[in-house]
Amino acid sequence: MKEKRYDIAVIGAGFAGSLTALGLDQLGYNVLLIEKEAHPRFAIGESSTPIADMILRDLAGRYDLSWLYSFSRYGSWQDHHPEVACGIKRGFSYYSHRRGRPFRTDEAHSRELLVAASVSNRQSDTNWYRPDLDAFLVSKVRETGIDYFDQTTVTSLLRTAGRWELEARREKDFQLFSSDWIIDATGSGALLHQLGIPSAGVDLRTRTSAIFSHFTGLKPWQSWLREHHISTGDYPYNPDFSALHHLLDEGWLWMLRFNNGTTSAGLVLEQYIRARLPENKQAAWKHVIGRYPSLADLFEKASVAELPGQLFSARRLQRRAQKVYGEGWVALPHTAGFVDPLHSTGIAHSLSGVERILYAFEEGGGSASSQPRSDFLATYERAVFRELRFIDLLVDGCYKTRRNFDLFTTYSMLYFTAAINYEQKRLRGLFDIENDAFLLANHPRIPALIHQCYREVQEISSRPDSEIPQEVIEKFRVRVKKEIAPFNPAGLLDPDIPNIYEHTAADLGCEK
Ligand SMILES: Cc1cc2nc3c(=O)[nH]c(=O)nc-3n(C[C@H](O)[C@H](O)[C@H](O)COP(=O)(O)OP(=O)(O)OC[C@H]3O[C@@H](n4cnc5c(N)ncnc54)[C@H](O)[C@@H]3O)c2cc1C
Repeated sequence: MKEKRYDIAVIGAGFAGSLTALGLDQLGYNVLLIEKEAHPRFAIGESSTPIADMILRDLAGRYDLSWLYSFSRYGSWQDHHPEVACGIKRGFSYYSHRRGRPFRTDEAHSRELLVAASVSNRQSDTNWYRPDLDAFLVSKVRETGIDYFDQTTVTSLLRTAGRWELEARREKDFQLFSSDWIIDATGSGALLHQLGIPSAGVDLRTRTSAIFSHFTGLKPWQSWLREHHISTGDYPYNPDFSALHHLLDEGWLWMLRFNNGTTSAGLVLEQYIRARLPENKQAAWKHVIGRYPSLADLFEKASVAELPGQLFSARRLQRRAQKVYGEGWVALPHTAGFVDPLHSTGIAHSLSGVERILYAFEEGGGSASSQPRSDFLATYERAVFRELRFIDLLVDGCYKTRRNFDLFTTYSMLYFTAAINYEQKRLRGLFDIENDAFLLANHPRIPALIHQCYREVQEISSRPDSEIPQEVIEKFRVRVKKEIAPFNPAGLLDPDIPNIYEHTAADLGCEK
C-alpha cells in the first residue's frame, strides 16, 4: 500500500477539527482530516456565547474565511444560511425550582435570573444545531479540496524519522497516511489514549454526570409561565430564546431551542445524587423530571427527536489529559479536558484553542518543515490546564450554592465578571494571544479574587441550606460586589430590576 503524505493530519471533524483544517489549509499546509462518523451526526455542545462569536469573527478575518463571519450572529446566519438550523440565544436564564411544587416567583424575581448578552434577535448569539453546522463545515472542507475521510478510524500511529505513520480503517479497507504533525480534535481524547497519554478528572472539583437528548413537542417555558400568570413583563427577552437553566435539588436541566422544532434538553446531576437514582437512564430521567411539576408539564407531550432517537447517559463529565502537546502532536481544548456544561464555556474554549493552534502554525505554512512557533505550544498547554482549573472553580461554586438561589446568583456573577472582562479585552483590541488565557484565567487579580470567594462559599455551604442566616448571604453579596468592583463595567449585582440584567458586552458601546 502506498502512503499519502501530508503536513498535518487533523483527527476528528467536529466544528473545531474542521475549522482547524480550514485555517491550516489557508496557511498553505497540505492537510488531512479524518472523522470516525458520517455527517450529519448528532453532537452535544450547542449553547454558544458572545466570546465564541468574537472568535469566529476573528478567525473569519485572520484566515480569510469570510463566509464564517455570518455564523457569529443570528441575523446574519439567517440571511446567509437559513438551511443550517440554530436557535436564538439572547442570554442566560436561570429558574430555581422546588421539588414537588410548581415553579413560583415574585415581583422581586427572587427565583429567576436573566442575564442578557445581546440587544436584539438579529444581533443575538446562537444555539448551534450541531448536526447541521458540523455537516456544513465539512462541506466547506470538501469544497476547499482538503482530503477528508469519514467513517474512518486511526488504528495505529507510529512516529518514525520525525514523521507520523498512520494506519486508518474504513470498514474493511485500510489506508496508510503520513504527516509531520497530528492535531487531536477527537473531543474524547481517543488519540491521546493511543499515544499513551492518560486522562484523569481527579484534580477537578466538579463531579457531575448527564442524561440528554433532543426533543420535539416540548412546551415553551414562556407559554408555561404565562399560563400560570407569572409575569414576564420585566424580561429583556423571551426566555425560550436563551440558554435556559432549571436549577434542581439534583443538579440542573438545560433547554436550548432550535428553529427547526427541536429542543436540546439535558439533566446534569451531581454524581453522588446520580448514584442514588435508578441506574436505567430513561427511569432516572423520568424520576427527576417527575419530581418537578412545571418541568413534567413541559415534557408531557414531548418525545425524543428522530435524530438522535435515544436518550444518552454520560458518566463523570470531568476529565483532563496529562499532556496537551508532545513531539509532533497537539490537542484541542475539548480533547485535553472538560469541566461541565454550566456556563456554556465549551464552544468558546474550543474556538480559543483553534485560534491558538492556528496562531502556533502561522509561520510554517508552505515551507518544508511544518514547524509551529517554538515555545508557544508549551504556553498553550500551561494555559489550557489553568483554564480548566479556573472554569472548574467557577462551576463548582455554582453547584455548591445552587440550592440557595441568592447565593447562587451572587456566585454566578464571578463567571460573568471573567467573561465580560475577556470580551472587553478582545473588543478593545487589547487581547494578546500569547499571554491572555481564555476567560483571563491568568489575569493578575481576577482568578485570585474568585479563589477567595470560592473559599468563602465552601465555608458557607458546609452548613445545611436552612441554617444559612440571611445576613451571611447578604454579607457574601456585599463582599463579592466589592471584590469585582474594579472589573464590573456591566453593573453586576446592581441591576435596576433585581436579577434582571439588561446590560451586556454588546450594549456597552464597544461592539461595531
Ligand atoms: C453533556 C455536555 C453538554 C455540553 N454543553 C455545552 C454547551 O451547552 N455549550 C458549550 O459551549 N459547550 C458544551 N459542551 C462542550 C462541547 O460539547 C465541546 O466544547 C465541543 O463539542 C467541542 O467541539 P470539538 O469539535 O472539539 O469536539 P467534538 O464535538 O467532540 O467533535 C469531535 C469529533 O471527533 C470525532 N472523533 C472522535 N474520536 C475519533 C477518532 N478516534 N477518529 C476520528 N474521529 C473521531 C467525533 O465523531 C466528532 O465528530 C458540552 C459537553 C457535554 C459533554
